[in-house]
Amino acid sequence: TDDDVGRLRAAIEAAERVVVFTGAGISTESGIPDFRSPGGIWDRMKPIQFQDFMASDEMRREAWRRKFAIDPTLAAARPNRGHRAVAELVRRGKAGAVITQNIDGLHQASGIPEERVIEIHGNTTYAKCLDCGLRVELDDIRPAFERSGEPPDCRACGGIVKTATISFGQPMPPDEMRAAERESQFCDLFIALGSSLVVFPAAGLPVLAKRSGAGLVIVNREPTDLDQIADLVLHREIGALLGEAVGID
Ligand code: NAD
Ligand code: ZN
Repeated sequence: TDDDVGRLRAAIEAAERVVVFTGAGISTESGIPDFRSPGGIWDRMKPIQFQDFMASDEMRREAWRRKFAIDPTLAAARPNRGHRAVAELVRRGKAGAVITQNIDGLHQASGIPEERVIEIHGNTTYAKCLDCGLRVELDDIRPAFERSGEPPDCRACGGIVKTATISFGQPMPPDEMRAAERESQFCDLFIALGSSLVVFPAAGLPVLAKRSGAGLVIVNREPTDLDQIADLVLHREIGALLGEAVGID
């Protein structure tokens, strides 16, 4: 085993209460492009701001067009070795919570109990009415959208229906943020995997953990904005490194 693997393994072994924090980088090995790497889906399309989504039917139509265009990629994606290693840390009781910026549902698909995954940017595998909160399945939206091209309205209250994701400009989900802050404050090791750590308030969580006395480990292909405050920085591919460190295939 190389030094990076050994260092990561030692940090995990020494810890009692680990929080794993993930970004788009943990899912690239599952075939889902990340946000900022060249060639990513979002590299070619400017994200739709929440205010613009709310302001016009035309933007809502465009948002739903994009959503269903990206869907086959998401539907085909399976958890990779990185997700499996994180699930193993939870199974062993080493990690109590996984805080994710991802909206792809792959942590749950890897077998982590739902209540241990804190999704601070929501989930794109279903939709919600912004007025009454009704959950709407995508399969119930797709046929009508494909037929009419009209964005969906809530069947209960007529409100605007949006994927259950948090868009730029949209308020963060308060319960999830509170839970994420609590976990960050009370862990003794915070491991950030595959996040550029530039999107706030999410990127404030590793800072909070560090300030509360936890060790901070960052695993990311490229430098991040928080490398200088971390105790251990590993510029490596997540799947192989974490898989080796945790001892799973
Ligand atoms: P980001 O794209 O800003 O950063 C991802 C980082 O991961 C990059 O710095 C990249 O170098 C690194 N990376 C990519 N593949 C890697 C690998 N195999 N090993 C190690 N490092 C790797 O992502 P972010 O910080 O998570 O923020 C992007 C925002 O966009 C998030 O808020 C998220 O909600 C959303 N998003 C989600 C998904 C998803 O659900 N899978 C995908 C794209 C974007
Ligand atoms: Zn409604």
